Amino acid sequence: MESSGGDGAAPEPMATEPSVIGGSSSGGSKTTDGTSADYYFNSYAHFGIHEEMLKDTVRTKTYMKSIYDNKHLFRDNVVLDVGCGTGILCMFAAKAGAKQVIGVDCSDIIEQSKKIVAQNVAETGLPDVITLVKGKMEDVVLPVEQVDIIISEWMGYFLFYESMLDTVLVARDKYLAPGGLVFPDKATLYISAIEDGDYKAEKMDWWDDVYGFKMSALKELAYVEPIVDVVDPRQVVTDAVPILTIDVQTCTVADLDFTAKFELTSQYNDHVHAFLGYFDTVFSHSHRPLVLPTGPEHKSTHWKQTVFYLRDPITCKEGEKISGELRCSPNKDNHRDLDIDIAVNFDGVHTKMDVKHEYKLR
Ligand code: SAH
Repeated sequence: MESSGGDGAAPEPMATEPSVIGGSSSGGSKTTDGTSADYYFNSYAHFGIHEEMLKDTVRTKTYMKSIYDNKHLFRDNVVLDVGCGTGILCMFAAKAGAKQVIGVDCSDIIEQSKKIVAQNVAETGLPDVITLVKGKMEDVVLPVEQVDIIISEWMGYFLFYESMLDTVLVARDKYLAPGGLVFPDKATLYISAIEDGDYKAEKMDWWDDVYGFKMSALKELAYVEPIVDVVDPRQVVTDAVPILTIDVQTCTVADLDFTAKFELTSQYNDHVHAFLGYFDTVFSHSHRPLVLPTGPEHKSTHWKQTVFYLRDPITCKEGEKISGELRCSPNKDNHRDLDIDIAVNFDGVHTKMDVKHEYKLR
């Protein structure tokens, strides 16, 4: 795929490395005591990952706006920030007039966050209402029994990678007062299909001739791992359809293991090489609707989009329909990874296809 610049230049480097965001917990050998949980949380200890998130202005400004534009909701209320990282959302909430803000994070970054909050209380007039608690949200005991608002930035690649929403739901069920609000409170996953011949050749077919040797075993592995990258909107061949909407105020962990049927309609005569997944997050308690979009037609975020390559391309005529079914579940051995199966059915003039591909986002 090309970078969003779409100038035909060399594609951007891939961003599936665990260090980018949230880490992958599959790298057990990198842990302090061999548990994947350590690796996951250690990946958040370095400031670099927080720098990347803070510099994602679409992300951070949307959260900022959701809080500053709704001071009437935050004023004099108790706020919990699940996974506070640098404490940025805590500071937004304190500035918006919250009575008390509690930030919880189990990564060592919180030692720095304590210094950051103290510095801003001393030097920038930040109200002294923030308490930072180090520990896993699931285990810590908060200094309050109930909170009025939960804020959290929990989204991962393809929305659910990292499974951090599970943690937000635990916090919600334990601490959110009746009638309390969750920011953001809705998220929708979308799927569409793209033309991506050049980049597919570079990433997949390249293994067919490596210095004169065939490396089909690695080609197979490459197909299984979806690629996280920014896609040029001009590559999108079909419409985009929602496959799941979750309501964070009410959903359960079971809702995050789902199967969805979809039907995409080709907008042009073109080739389809891959499915594309991305999400919108919505702050619907905001007095004006506020959406954090991550689709290819919007300014790119650090979540980019997720590309699932088909083994064989589909040649579509305008108006033809690609039917499919996507199943997404946390991996049995490592619940932060995602198993995603996509079944495709296509009966077109040029192509007939009935296949199922299995992917692992890790
Ligand atoms: N709120 C910050 C950081 C978001 S990244 C910001 O918006 O910039 C998510 C953070 O959640 C990471 O710092 C990670 O260490 C923390 N986290 C993830 N799961 C957690 C859990 N179960 N308990 C406590 N903290 C968690």
